[in-house]
Amino acid sequence: MIVDKLGRRFRSLRVSLTAACNYACTYCVPDGKRLMKAQDELPASELLKAVTYLQQAAGIDKLRITGGEPLVTPKFDEFLLGVMQLPLDDVSLTTNGQLLLKKKEVIRESGIARLNISLDTLNPLRFRQLARGGDLDTVLAGIDAMLELGLKLKINMVPLRNQNDGDVIPLLEYCLDRGIELRFIELMRMGHLAHSNTFQSEFVSMASLLDIIGARYEFERTDAPYDSTAVRFRIPDKGVFGIIANESEPFCRSCTRLRLSSDGYLYGCLSSTRKQYIGDLLQLPPHQILPRLQGILLSALGDKQTSFQGEVTIMKFIGG
Ligand code: SAM
Repeated sequence: MIVDKLGRRFRSLRVSLTAACNYACTYCVPDGKRLMKAQDELPASELLKAVTYLQQAAGIDKLRITGGEPLVTPKFDEFLLGVMQLPLDDVSLTTNGQLLLKKKEVIRESGIARLNISLDTLNPLRFRQLARGGDLDTVLAGIDAMLELGLKLKINMVPLRNQNDGDVIPLLEYCLDRGIELRFIELMRMGHLAHSNTFQSEFVSMASLLDIIGARYEFERTDAPYDSTAVRFRIPDKGVFGIIANESEPFCRSCTRLRLSSDGYLYGCLSSTRKQYIGDLLQLPPHQILPRLQGILLSALGDKQTSFQGEVTIMKFIGG
């Protein structure tokens, strides 16, 4: 097993199926242009092959399918059904929910148990302003359909000052009423926010969020697994919410994440532009792949930082 000085190793793999997205969220995409996929994206069969070898070389046991928007690519069905056949402890999917109704059947057939759905507001006008694509009612109908299938859901919300911070309580109550765990993601200095004043003016800290929620509900901090990125809170008799407090309580020192982009690059750290191409490696005879991959993983682990400094890489290219 490859382990670094801080005891970190890769356990959890995020696979970006495509960089294309049917949204252009203001905090993710600078120019508002949608559906831009990366050049030379790998087919589902190659991504599945990469996952199989990464499992053997790094001991990956958790996998999240992400993007871009994973449901927009025709690769989605083959990848989801394929990955559910692999001996992984946990497979989950992050989606903006816009195409969940259309993909309901393959999601059911695959047996996947958990989904994270990104939803920043319950207000249709604000939804259009923030996502710059899609339709709120379609997402809400998709969420209902996934609840009917019995899936365990989390909703991801990125709170932005003076934009959707008024949606914190409505979204929290929507989730508590449905047994969904709401995850607030503190705004990250990624892409165009890495070196911009916009980050400071839009950032909502964990302390501010807890003030907003504390004005309405009593809550207590509760346990989270060792390598969880979320700080979790329980509202007695109501449910649980979490905050991914990237700035307020950074989790870099226990990070176990590895990212595979749709064009075949491994990223060991969100706070580093360093990446390693593995697309060509997958074409080698099987006995040559593992030793080469182990060398690459050692280098990717060395890219992990001890604190998050922000990075110009756009989230949708490497998988949020
Ligand atoms: N399209 C899918 C979705 O919307 O969930 C998956 C990809 S998206 C990049 C994954 C997550 O990253 C979303 O929850 C999104 O809100 C979040 N995200 C993107 N840019 C971010 C930023 N600068 N700070 C915090 N979260 C961000």
